[in-house]
Amino acid sequence: MCTVCGCDGGEAAHDHSPDHHDHPHPHENGHEHGHHHHHHHHHGHDHAHDHAHAPAAPAPLDFGGGIAGVHIAGLSQSRIVQIERDILGKNNSYAADNRARFAAAGTLALNFVSSPGSGKTSLLVRAITDLKDKFPIAVIEGDQQTANDAERIRATGAPAIQINTGKGCHLDAHMVGHALGQLPALAQGVLFIENVGNLVCPAAFDLGEAHKVVVLSVTEGEDKPLKYPDMFAAAELMLINKVDLMPHLDFDLASCIEYARRVNPKIAVLTLSARSGEGLPAFYAWIEKRAAAARSAARAAE
Ligand code: MG
Repeated sequence: MCTVCGCDGGEAAHDHSPDHHDHPHPHENGHEHGHHHHHHHHHGHDHAHDHAHAPAAPAPLDFGGGIAGVHIAGLSQSRIVQIERDILGKNNSYAADNRARFAAAGTLALNFVSSPGSGKTSLLVRAITDLKDKFPIAVIEGDQQTANDAERIRATGAPAIQINTGKGCHLDAHMVGHALGQLPALAQGVLFIENVGNLVCPAAFDLGEAHKVVVLSVTEGEDKPLKYPDMFAAAELMLINKVDLMPHLDFDLASCIEYARRVNPKIAVLTLSARSGEGLPAFYAWIEKRAAAARSAARAAE
């Protein structure tokens, strides 16, 4: 997870130097397994020129082995695991507080995750416009810098709080707890949390949400679920966005869905376009069903 980039502060943060990945030493070269956590290793060997008759391509340089499943120069595997346990343990206790708050208020909280540019904000703007008369909606926006997305949300009339994470690559539950204190009460409503655009680190951080929703646009590769399996494993729902662009692209929809189900057999999949509106009714029905369940669970607990 993202102790790799030092974004959690604390003891991992000393590893922030920009060149700390520049000394590959392929200690586990040639042995493939299921860890794909690292995102800052650019080893620069694309396989676009592979041909059947070419000599055997070199195996990937694999820094995802060991008990930590990740490599941080200067830290032992056991030390990395200890740091991660510490960070995630604290995060999980804040997440439990947020979750208790949502449960008491009958609020459905959804955590939207994706790579940058998948269309999360546009989708939320459209969804809020279409759903705001049915239940109260508020938004927490996560980006490294700017309040642009919160401003776009506020233009719909919905309250929005922007969180800027600086060098951080994900929202954590503590940040979300602070943002909740700035938002109006959202009893019986829906909270959309738009995470920082990043298909890696947000997978590991529970914000107290009911579900993670991963958004993948058809302008990305259909093999994203295989390349970034943790995120698709953590998500309840995959939204395949921008399907109005499919006629112009080579995106293989059936393979994309098959890859996602290979990583997470239970993942629900909906195809839609925030721009054309196709597929949105099914997405709204998915939300409304879960919002109703959150409301009735809160009433039953009273
Ligand atoms: Mg955005």
